[in-house]
Amino acid sequence: MLTKAPKGTKDVLPSESYKWIYLENTIRDLARLFGYQEIRTPIFEHTELFQRGVGDTTDIVQKEMYTFEDKAGRSITLKPEGTAGAVRAFIEGKLYSEPQPTKMYYLTPVFRYERPQAGRYRQHHQFGVEVFGAYEASVDAEIISLAMALFNKIGIRNLELNINSIGCPQCRGEYHKVLVEFLSKRKDRLCKTCNERLLKNPLRVLDCKIPECKEAMKDAPLILDYLCEDCRSHFHSLQRYLDLLGIPYKINPMIVRGLDYYTKTVFEIISTNIGSQGTICGGGRYDGLVEQIGGPSMAGIGFGMGLERVLLEMESQNIAIPKLPDYDAFVITIGEEAKEKAFSLVYRMRLSGISADLDHIARSVKAQFKYSNKTNAPFVCILGEDELKNGTVKVKDMKTGSEESILMDQLISYLNEKLGMEE
Ligand code: ATP
Ligand code: MG
Repeated sequence: MLTKAPKGTKDVLPSESYKWIYLENTIRDLARLFGYQEIRTPIFEHTELFQRGVGDTTDIVQKEMYTFEDKAGRSITLKPEGTAGAVRAFIEGKLYSEPQPTKMYYLTPVFRYERPQAGRYRQHHQFGVEVFGAYEASVDAEIISLAMALFNKIGIRNLELNINSIGCPQCRGEYHKVLVEFLSKRKDRLCKTCNERLLKNPLRVLDCKIPECKEAMKDAPLILDYLCEDCRSHFHSLQRYLDLLGIPYKINPMIVRGLDYYTKTVFEIISTNIGSQGTICGGGRYDGLVEQIGGPSMAGIGFGMGLERVLLEMESQNIAIPKLPDYDAFVITIGEEAKEKAFSLVYRMRLSGISADLDHIARSVKAQFKYSNKTNAPFVCILGEDELKNGTVKVKDMKTGSEESILMDQLISYLNEKLGMEE
């Protein structure tokens, strides 16, 4: 118990964290290029925020939230997604009174009480973006292009972009009626959950993953046939903007998304590799949400991308992630006096931008060599009796195997030059 992490959680060990750092750095660079600034909101919020923001009828709110009472009896919930907190902060910070649109991104842990399996955890991590204050479909296409640019940059291929429009409260009402009528006739062919959805959130029946339900839904009426003029032209406009960027997409009328707040555009970026957990990124427009949470009436759109799934996908496509050696240089010492000299030398090396280390646990010289080999340090510096006497350091270039004796005072500029040449 003590030595086991809670079910559905995962450690990122030091030997693996470079993958996360690479992914997060790539995301931050791209977000900047697209003009998105980072927002950081608390890991927990008042439970009502998610009930109101995500929606009472969603799987997330009904089954998946980590909710508890704090010591003062308030109901608190760990973030089950990133949008509600971002919207709350947008309103609380009065960002709506600044020039629009507001473009932001986040990297955050997300908590959902789900049955753990590959690509599905109780704590996972999302990269998400939100844009407030723009109704135009060019923004929808922009956030999609940001997600696609990321996949492109990190080398993931064969992803499928699926887009749909689920209309606005006006046109969806009409569709709702027709859909419920259709579903009511097929109740006995739908799973238990879909029978509940039929009453609470009939749209969700459309994206049930159970084969019997899929079969029963084959000739279901489609929302795209019921869109009002405004929603229809918005959806066309999205397609036009995607075409302009040469981003391929599939119109998939069965995509509805699990969250209640969506309007018009919804989309998913799906991998064919990782099976039923294949949705790597999902998003959509939520023009009613800011107002629903207590702000002014304002457009909004965003996506959430599961970073564990991105990394799984990279793994399954055999994409190597660049890994730096642990150090630029490892200093091997022979004797206590050498260690003292090396100790301050290593400090000066570090301050001048050379990542360096020395032995702290009194290894034999042979074991120090073995250890430094393991770290892949391209340079090994040796400080023994002779070197101490002469004020020099022996530097071994591990790539070429050549050795040179360098004056201690010149070591840093010597290494900086060598390391600079390597880049
Ligand atoms: P799914 O259909 O897989 O349950 P979802 O519709 O619940 O996904 P969103 O709420 O849209 O997912 O979350 C955005 C993204 O976060 C998903 O596309 C997915 O990549 C990732 N994600 C969601 N839930 C989990 C989880 N439990 N573990 C890992 N990643 C997840
Ligand atoms: Mg889910």
